[in-house]
Amino acid sequence: MSNLTFGIIKPDAVRAGKQGAIIQRILDAGFGIRGMKLIHQTRKQAEGFYVVHAGKGFFDELCDFMSSGPCVVMALEKDGAVKAWRDLMGATNPAEAAEGTLRKEFATSIGENAVHGSDSEENAQIEIAYFFSKLELV
Ligand code: GDP
Repeated sequence: MSNLTFGIIKPDAVRAGKQGAIIQRILDAGFGIRGMKLIHQTRKQAEGFYVVHAGKGFFDELCDFMSSGPCVVMALEKDGAVKAWRDLMGATNPAEAAEGTLRKEFATSIGENAVHGSDSEENAQIEIAYFFSKLELV
């Protein structure tokens, strides 16, 4: 699965009606979409997903935000998918995100930053498996 990564169009971007524009940017960048669904995470699901950040100052805010509304979870395919998707997303803080990145265009703050992407191939596999069964990946 080294050519796969995991992405989320976060609740802020879905609330703003930007999911279509973001999906178009993903396709234009040459990713294949192997899995996609709209979900509304419970607080517990968000806590489980972000368990590596448990204990950090922003953890509660992050879990509240990620369970605040629907989001789009995606399994994305491309050569070097993890880096390619992080490059397209841009820096965590939109104030530092480069021109042409999704966070520059769609994020409003370091917390409400429009998209998530795995930071390693290992985490991509874990994160895809958190939201998708094998049957849901085409
Ligand atoms: P990412 O890999 O670029 O998403 O960044 P991190 O793994 O460092 O952080 C995970 C997510 O936690 C980010 O995408 C933000 O939504 C959130 N986050 C990180 N730092 C902060 C912060 O200082 N304040 C708040 N509210 N959220 C943060």
